[in-house]
Amino acid sequence: MATILVLGGGYAGMRAIKFLQREVPSEDRLILVDKSGTHAEKTNLHEVAAGTIAPGRITYEINDVIGRRVEFIQDAVTNVDVDQKQVTLANHDPLTYDYLIVALGFQSETFGLKGATENALPMDDLETSEAVYRHIEDKIKGYADSKDDRDLTIAVCGAGFTGIELLGELTQSMPKLQAKYNTPAIKLVCLERATTILPMFHDKTLADYTMRFMAKHDVEMKLGSNIAEIKPGAVVYTDSDDAEHEVAANTIVWTVGVSGSQVMADSGFDQRRNRVVVKDDLSLEGHPEVYIIGDVSAVMDPDSGRPYPTTAQIALASGTTAAKNIGLAIRGRDTKPFVYKALGTVASLSDRDGVGEVFSTNRPVRGYMASALKKVITDRSLLESAKVSTLLAKGRFDLYH
Ligand code: NAD
Repeated sequence: MATILVLGGGYAGMRAIKFLQREVPSEDRLILVDKSGTHAEKTNLHEVAAGTIAPGRITYEINDVIGRRVEFIQDAVTNVDVDQKQVTLANHDPLTYDYLIVALGFQSETFGLKGATENALPMDDLETSEAVYRHIEDKIKGYADSKDDRDLTIAVCGAGFTGIELLGELTQSMPKLQAKYNTPAIKLVCLERATTILPMFHDKTLADYTMRFMAKHDVEMKLGSNIAEIKPGAVVYTDSDDAEHEVAANTIVWTVGVSGSQVMADSGFDQRRNRVVVKDDLSLEGHPEVYIIGDVSAVMDPDSGRPYPTTAQIALASGTTAAKNIGLAIRGRDTKPFVYKALGTVASLSDRDGVGEVFSTNRPVRGYMASALKKVITDRSLLESAKVSTLLAKGRFDLYH
């Protein structure tokens, strides 16, 4: 009887545990570890941070969706020792395994930027995303007494997918908060080092569409702004002439990028930004019993010769491959390489708008079609990682009427 241990109940880990139940013999032991008892659909965290969706709409209890044969341990992983085949947890005895899937996910990355940890709000899990919205509402409510314009200014640092999607939602929710607390207009500012946005899209008109959306909703997009420091109540940045400026804001949201879980570096893996390069079957070089998937892994795309981006869709697909490969290995068969077929890539701009590219054809989509595609991707992920009942309770069905 083999013990198969999955670390992390995010997109990659939940998908892996679901497929392991089909792929490995019923006598094998399946254990899932996550520090939280709740799975959050992290591609929707920006909606929680902007207050356009209730946190309960993007979460489900891990115990409700894993099959009865899976043992779930709620605890934090502190160390992974692949030589000793041992995993250390914060509050339980260490675990040993025959096969291991490491799917510990991402964390917000400050790049050591001065004041970022102390003065900016990350958005990397449900708790921090809820805290962003609470902070925004507190400041707007407090304006009645403070009359401080900084309380009505939200600075979003970084215009990657996370920053853009957050801004899109904020354009919808901030007019409602303004009306609720009867304040002057709430100001949205975005600072981005690059001089263009959304470089991953082949069709450059998608970036233009997004900039027009932001202008229409009075979002100030400060491209070419290199953030140098976050002070209490201000973002300090330099422009292309190296001149220093500040944006005064009492809500500063940090969306300048992510790295894999710190556990990877702490455990001594050969990693870059906590991502470990894996073999084409997703196993670790020299350790065919260890699979590293999702945001803690770097999987080379044979077409581009560069690692795939770290997206939820790739995390899901890698969960399936790792589970199937463990099933093959247990039956003494050869493992198979990871093959990835994207449904498409979409950045939402509010609930009814967005920009994206479809499938591998890179056909551009914008507006309502793009937001519908994102909902289809979300629904498919719920169905494939949880249960039909989870999809019915949490899925995005508004696009079907
Ligand atoms: P990112 O790394 O993609 O974007 C961060 C942005 O911050 C970049 O545009 C970068 O130029 C900017 N930046 C970095 N340092 C800066 C500085 N000092 N000053 C000013 N700007 C600075 O990070 P993200 O948006 O959090 O996305 C992380 C990953 O998750 C990506 O792979 C992304 O594709 C993925 N993601 C996908 C979706 C989706 O598919 N809808 C949504 C969110 C995130």
